Amino acid sequence: MGHVAIDGPGGSGKSTVAAALAKRLGWERLDTGAMYRAVALLALRHHVAVADAPALAELARAMELEVGEQVVLDGEDVTTQIRSEAVDAVVSPISAHPAVRSELVARQRTWAAAHDTGVVEGRDIGSVVLPDALLKVYLDAHPDVRAARRAGQRAAAPDAALRAALAQRDAADSTRAHAPLLIAPGALVIDSSELGVDEVVERLLAALEERGVRP
Ligand code: C5P
Repeated sequence: MGHVAIDGPGGSGKSTVAAALAKRLGWERLDTGAMYRAVALLALRHHVAVADAPALAELARAMELEVGEQVVLDGEDVTTQIRSEAVDAVVSPISAHPAVRSELVARQRTWAAAHDTGVVEGRDIGSVVLPDALLKVYLDAHPDVRAARRAGQRAAAPDAALRAALAQRDAADSTRAHAPLLIAPGALVIDSSELGVDEVVERLLAALEERGVRP
């Protein structure tokens, strides 16, 4: 039937919305940010420099990765570790390398080909990975709201450092030369600053219904 592509900056509510939408539809979901985070975790562990594109691409090529409720990297559950501040700090420059992206984009397209339906979230899903997705969504929210949500995931209060780190990562993701974060042509843009998850999901279900999909 098709795929829903959800893109947006960190803390925009993508993961929560993608999970809730997938549940309502009974579809599977793929968190592509977790894939870039897995490469970043490997790079930290193997002391590979963030500028060493060939070595990073080799890590991305060779890793065994399952991304579902848990993220399992080479047989180890790294669900929590890929969300660390250390990973946050290096994931953007690592994901800016075309050689890294092409390894992961190939895996993402393989996943989509194996799933008739699915919700795929990231930064370049509607623009690069699945430009023919049934529904493309760009989810955004005010920077203060995004920082608070990101802090909530870590059970901490949003502080200036977290806000600055998030802003820096967004700026890097939006201005990189290859597959930057942008509003894909035809995407439905939703500002979730003042919307609850259920309200966003209802809007997406309505958009899907217009496209012939009923939960
Ligand atoms: O979505 P999440 O915040 O977990 O993504 C972590 C990082 O992975 C992003 O800041 C971005 O640098 C990178 N990413 C990407 N393309 C995607 C998904 C994530 O470049 N499709």
